[in-house]
Amino acid sequence: MGSSAHPPRKGYNNYGVYLRERFAGRRVFKVIVDAGLSCPNRDGSKGYGGCTYCNVDSFTPQLPRSLAAIRAQIEQGMARARTNYAAEKFILYFQPNTNTYAPVATLRALFDEALAICPQDVVGLAVGTRPDCLDAGKIALLESYTNNLMVDLEMGMESIYDATLLQLNRGCTHQDLVTVLDQLENSPLNLCVHTVFGFPGETRDMMLAYAREINRFPQIKFVKLHHLHIVAGSILAVHYKRAPFQLFELDDYTDFLCEFLPLLRPDIVVQRLFGISDWKLLIAPNWGLKKVRIQTHIDQAILRRGVIQGSRVATG
Ligand code: SF4
Repeated sequence: MGSSAHPPRKGYNNYGVYLRERFAGRRVFKVIVDAGLSCPNRDGSKGYGGCTYCNVDSFTPQLPRSLAAIRAQIEQGMARARTNYAAEKFILYFQPNTNTYAPVATLRALFDEALAICPQDVVGLAVGTRPDCLDAGKIALLESYTNNLMVDLEMGMESIYDATLLQLNRGCTHQDLVTVLDQLENSPLNLCVHTVFGFPGETRDMMLAYAREINRFPQIKFVKLHHLHIVAGSILAVHYKRAPFQLFELDDYTDFLCEFLPLLRPDIVVQRLFGISDWKLLIAPNWGLKKVRIQTHIDQAILRRGVIQGSRVATG
């Protein structure tokens, strides 16, 4: 899907459309699984306190984290998605923290346990991690599931600038990501990179340059694009309260996306266009709209302005 010969239906390659095409029109939803793993940037092996923008509770629904057993998380997540969204098939999404931060044997036991719970309805596995928490053994383990399932490996890129990553206490460099991407050049895994726009010190041109960097890697299949959120419990929240800095308003961010998407390779599927976090933890920017209204606002602007993903990618 998503070739430049067939402009994307929404102006960009939308993940929902991708899933419907890939799974013959079935309604496929992600079920979040909290495996109880930690993060090397929190437990001291890479750093303490985590990335300055991170409060893991801000992007993790309460239910998965409050349930002890993976089985209960999955069964309840599936039941909720069936009731609320008429979901038919599921992708198990290991989201919170760093989901390759354990020995291969532990990871295999975790993934196997999860995948055995309702195998007839599971069509995919998605694993979120840091680029510096992958090695040949972990990659081989994830690849071993690709015979039967769609397997997505989601890695935090966040910024392409080391000065920003350093300031964010990210604990890894852009080169760490590049090294893993090179290692995964011919992998059957679906690679997804996660970016954030609006870090202090980055200009609009610097952010637009993320597209060129992502485009360099044909093995990147998905992106998740986010605007920077300040969430309670993060180090950045303390900095922001002390000295507030400019954050994206919805219209500015929409303008930015309308400029960014034409620069992004047309075959890449956009899983997300903006960040979402728990309302109770969100400090700024508060756009005052629910997720679906934000999505509609952005989608309508993209269509109205005739934005086409990839239309300004330099060729040759
Ligand atoms: S953003 Fe990810 S890598 Fe950074 S501290 Fe939070 S869980 Fe760890």
